[in-house]
Formats: sequence, structure tokens, C-alpha cells
Amino acid sequence: MIECPCCRERIERRVVYRKERCPAMNNVTYRTAAEAVKAPVGEVELVACDKCAAVFNSAFDPDILEYDRHYDNSRDSSPAYRDYLDELASKVGKDIRKDARILEVGCGNGDFLKKLCDRTHARGFGYDRAYTGDGVQGSVIFRKEYFSPSAADSGYDVLILRHVLEHLHKPYLFLKQICRPSVLAKGAKICVEVPDLEWIVRKEAFYDITYEHCNYFCRKSLAALISSAGFRDIRISNVFGGEYILLEAVYDPTACKDAMSGRPEASGIDLGNVLKGIKRERDDFIRSAENLCVWGASGKGVLFLSALNDELLKRVKYVVDINEKKQGRFLPVSAKRIEPPAVLRKATGKIDVLVMNSVYKKEIEGALSGMGINAKAHIL
Ligand SMILES: [Zn+2]
Repeated sequence: MIECPCCRERIERRVVYRKERCPAMNNVTYRTAAEAVKAPVGEVELVACDKCAAVFNSAFDPDILEYDRHYDNSRDSSPAYRDYLDELASKVGKDIRKDARILEVGCGNGDFLKKLCDRTHARGFGYDRAYTGDGVQGSVIFRKEYFSPSAADSGYDVLILRHVLEHLHKPYLFLKQICRPSVLAKGAKICVEVPDLEWIVRKEAFYDITYEHCNYFCRKSLAALISSAGFRDIRISNVFGGEYILLEAVYDPTACKDAMSGRPEASGIDLGNVLKGIKRERDDFIRSAENLCVWGASGKGVLFLSALNDELLKRVKYVVDINEKKQGRFLPVSAKRIEPPAVLRKATGKIDVLVMNSVYKKEIEGALSGMGINAKAHIL
């Protein structure tokens, strides 16, 4: 038996998906290949809660991870991602007043919070240990630390948690620490974005199952978790091409129940089946390619490469990324060197580019033709 970190019920420890030697951090790159090979790894043993439908890594050890300044998950070099953030800020910002105080926990480089405050004229407070910019930017104050509720931090009207809950070992306890009357104003809005497990399963995107993410939510399990933390009027939609769940709700501590009401049915996802057939198809494709390039040296690319054996890994001739800070560095476990896209000019013969996320396919095809490189882009 094991305690579910979302609903805290005792459940049977039935592993539905297992992955060994998973790179512990997807977004850390290394100076040398020797360091990259020795990157920390962890075990993934996913358990599905039959009470609240949450899926979590029961073998997760938070001590393996360290989110500090070496952690670079910024995708701001991508125009497609910047467009997405603009669109999201406009959607989320619609009902935010200009005198509102917005708290973002896990704000990364602060791009979204800045966009949201620019749009709404509200004041922003961003917390992230990996934040590297200036402390004050316009109407936004950034703190390079974990958020901890104190007397000075109170009365927030909006709480933003983008890509945070899936990283937390104990998401319910985390929410209970922040979502209390001494921190949030009554009627405060919460806005949560997480990857959608149902999308991962539907797309057979098993590269999205990563050590960094110890929780995998579907709409039902996310709604159950947020309502148990004292929120009502939950609205859920899918964003970013369907890949993420966006949840918006209203804080009402009187609505808070210790036991969850209206418990959802377990989602019944059979992750074990996700892998069937895909692996052989993938291996054949890699072997048949003349010049194979993996485009995108973050989450999906790292996991894709670290799952390959040495023979297949050698077949991947190039790993490219437009993020200049990553170029010349090495990926964890696979120890592949990250190159700028222009490296493909050196290739002779047919070039196949594996696009790690379909959202970026058009952008990558545009970049290839802009450089005069004749290559075929494939979606992974
Ligand atoms: Zn549960």
C-alpha cells in the first residue's frame, strides 16, 4: 500500500509503467561528454490512483533533482512558443483587474508573468530559484527563491502555477501551504497549466514521461486536486495544441473539503500498452536514415536520445537547437553534442529531421528552407 500524493488515500502500489535509467534533469546540459555520461539518473515506476485518477512516480526521489541556475527550460528563442505565451496571457488576463496582485510560483525566467502584467497593468510577484534576471522589471518583482508564505506576502488576487504541480513530490501539501486565507484573497483566481496525460497516451508520446515529472494529470484528477485545495467554479480547457490542460478556478476557503466530493472515476489508462509497436517502428526509421538529425535539445529530445542503445545513438548524426546557450554543450546520458542548425549544411545526401514537437514543425521547416537546406521534417 502507498499514499496517493494528490488525494492522500491509501492505495495499492500497482505499477502501470516502468522506465529505468531516466535522465533526472532534462534541461541541464554539460560542458563535456564525460560529464554528460555521468549525469544523474532515476527510476520511473508510475502508479495510477484508483481513487482520484492521479498518476505518479512511486520511485521518485526529490533529492536527485536540483532546480538552480543550470536549469534552463526557457523556450523563448522559439517564435511559436512566444506566440503561445501571448495568446495565453490574453486568455488568462481577461478578468484580471489592473489593481490586482499576481503571484506566480515557479515563474522560470518570468516571461509569462511580464506579459500578463503588461497586458493587465497588474502588479506581479514571481518566485523561482532558477530565475536569472533583474529583481525588478517594470511592475513585476522577481525573487530568486522558493515561495514561502509569510506575513508580508498576503492578499494575492491571482495565483499562477504553470508547469509546477507535475514537478512536486507532494502536490496536495504544496497547495495547502499556499492556498490559505493568509496568502490568497477570497475570490482569488488560480490558473494552473500542466501536461495532459490523456494527450500523452493518445499521441503515444511516451517521451513525455520523464523523471522530472513525478505527477501526470488528466482533467478529472487535476480538477479533484484543485477543488480539494479550496477552489470552486473550475473551468478546464486544453491549450498548446491540446498538449496542456489549463485550469482556472476561484478561491473560496469555505468550499474547502477535507475529503473530496464527487470523486472522479479512475481514467483507466493502460500505459503499459503505450509502448507496443512504437519502438520497432522507431528503430527501423533510425537505421534507414542517411543523415538523421534530432531538432530540439530539451525534454522530448533528451528522453528520445537517452532511450536509444549505442548502435542507434551512433545513427543520430546531429542534435540541433536554436538556443545559443545550449550549443556546444552535451546532453545528459546520451552525451550528444548540441549544434546550431547551420551544421546541417555540412551534411551530404538525404537529411531527415526528427521534430520533437509538432507545434514547431512549421517553424523548423521555415528555418531549414531559410538556410537553403533540403531536408525532410518528420514528427516523432
Ligand atoms: Zn489519489
